[in-house]
Amino acid sequence: MLDMTVITDAEIALPAEPVALQHFIDGTWVDSADGAVSERVSPSHGVVVSRAAQGGETETEAAITAARAAFDDGRWSRIPGKERAAVLLKVADLIEQHTERLAVLETLESGKPINQSRGEVGGAADLWRYAASLARTVHGDSLNTLGDDMVAMVLKEPIGVVSIITPWNFPFWILSQKLPFALAAGCTCVVKPSEMTPSTTALLAELMVEAGMPAGVCNIVLGYGMPVGSLMTSHADVDMVSFTGSTAVGKKISQIASGTLKKIALELGGKNAQVVFPDADLDAAADAVAFGVHFNVGQCCNSSSRVIVHKDIADAFTTKVVELSRRVAYGNPLNPDTQVGAIVTPEHQAKIDGYVQEAIAEGADVRLGGAPLEVEGVGSQFYQPTVVTRLTSSMRIVQEEVFGPVLSVLTFKTLDEAIALTNDSVYGLSAGGWSNDVHTCLAFARRAEAGTVWTNTWMDGYPEVAFGGMKQSGQGREIGRYGFEEFLEVKSVVMRVGRTRAPWVNGS
Ligand code: NAD
Repeated sequence: MLDMTVITDAEIALPAEPVALQHFIDGTWVDSADGAVSERVSPSHGVVVSRAAQGGETETEAAITAARAAFDDGRWSRIPGKERAAVLLKVADLIEQHTERLAVLETLESGKPINQSRGEVGGAADLWRYAASLARTVHGDSLNTLGDDMVAMVLKEPIGVVSIITPWNFPFWILSQKLPFALAAGCTCVVKPSEMTPSTTALLAELMVEAGMPAGVCNIVLGYGMPVGSLMTSHADVDMVSFTGSTAVGKKISQIASGTLKKIALELGGKNAQVVFPDADLDAAADAVAFGVHFNVGQCCNSSSRVIVHKDIADAFTTKVVELSRRVAYGNPLNPDTQVGAIVTPEHQAKIDGYVQEAIAEGADVRLGGAPLEVEGVGSQFYQPTVVTRLTSSMRIVQEEVFGPVLSVLTFKTLDEAIALTNDSVYGLSAGGWSNDVHTCLAFARRAEAGTVWTNTWMDGYPEVAFGGMKQSGQGREIGRYGFEEFLEVKSVVMRVGRTRAPWVNGS
């Protein structure tokens, strides 16, 4: 048995009954026309957590029609920002009141630790509050320098009907990075959560009704990418798709959306590196590397699945990370002391292990872990904290998104080499640099090809700070003012003051 920290007991009882979920279309909860349902079995406890209506084209069409009508008649898009903000603030309050119920379902469906779910749901309320502030403060430009008889305005308008498609790894958080911002802008929405984690998105409908959101403004269809997500992307009545998920599906979304040239915003995969320079605070860096790779069992777009360490400190630093990784509390997600929970599906667990075994076959050295993990009384859908060395940058484990608690260690000698290794990826989501020299931090930050660069920290995020990816990690930005602007169209209004222009047609 690997010498590591494993938690087996639980403090929260398993639900007696699965939660029953319906679509929410035009203010009404409905089952699928064909009666189809799908069940989600908890990755950690093997119980059926939810039984959800499984949508088809009928429900998707109905949801898009409702969102289109709600947008076009102005019941949300043309009311004062103050009124939209009031509803969003009420939703935020209700999310806080219902945090425990939402968090338990999030944990049971995703396998993540309960304290993490509580943090994500509670933190999501702040995203709704920040978005509410934008609903009241958004403005365009006025141009008063065009001549005595001319004035122009650049107006910001809601883009229209937005399809929102989300993944399973941070279901409520990612929904809240998109939906309140789209709503704050005045858009109406059709939302599809991952088929694996539908509960918290479906339950949000209850909170939105209680908060006074008009019918048709936010519609939720439960189901799979095909046909629901696909129709949400191809439909001519949808003006924009905001998608978070894998790069492979992101490329499909891009292709399908091109049929109507609708706007797309894509938040995709990552293969993020933390670079440790020899003058860094090595204890703090090692802790951040352990956090970066084990958080959410590595099932995280921001996972720092690569660490690039200066050669002089590589052995000592790797030993530190190995020792810290042993002490991370893996195990029962329903125990508040657990830091790392279960893997989302058995197939994904096998995929993670496949990367590790392939690396071993190619000559890599596994310094810790490297195998699935069984947690007594909880189940076998876990994976050991794993640290792999003796790698080259071209190996699949270093290039591809493993999406597990698997750290690849590479080494460098010069800043140029560190930057080259960091950027040796098709992805460009995030990167981190560790040094006590501000010049090194700044040089790294300016040259790293990533949408977010952290220096001397990892994965700190704020509603105010834009997030998104370069290269194959995505298009557009989320949260912050830049993220909000994605949901706005720009319209220029040019006005002549009085009939001062010489006629174009002679004599008119
Ligand atoms: P996924 O791409 O398999 O699924 C994401 C969503 O797309 C789901 O709701 C799914 O049902 C839907 N979908 C699947 N096929 C579709 C299609 N043809 N048309 C429309 N919708 C379709 O991703 P996942 O496995 O749920 O999530 C993990 C991935 O998400 C990882 O690659 C991760 O890096 C990425 N991710 C990125 C960010 C970010 O902000 N950049 C955040 C979280 C997750």
